[in-house]
Amino acid sequence: MNCLVCRGGTMCESLEPYFAKLETGYLIVENVPCWKCNQCGEILFAASVLERIEDLIAAYKKVASKIFIVDYRQAA
Ligand SMILES: [Zn+2]
Repeated sequence: MNCLVCRGGTMCESLEPYFAKLETGYLIVENVPCWKCNQCGEILFAASVLERIEDLIAAYKKVASKIFIVDYRQAA
């Protein structure tokens, strides 16, 4: 799969952190499976992965704390 941003790079499987801003703080999901361009570093998450992250965001939004760090492999 070629990169849609720089068009010259190749998207490779990778594990990257995902940062989400909540109303009350931040959620950091580590080790999220994604595709990463080996040239420009553009990151692409699969729709199914983003859906799972939205579930996590919805769950953590209700908890009144500032920063959450979860591991995707354990949370999903
Ligand atoms: Zn690229």
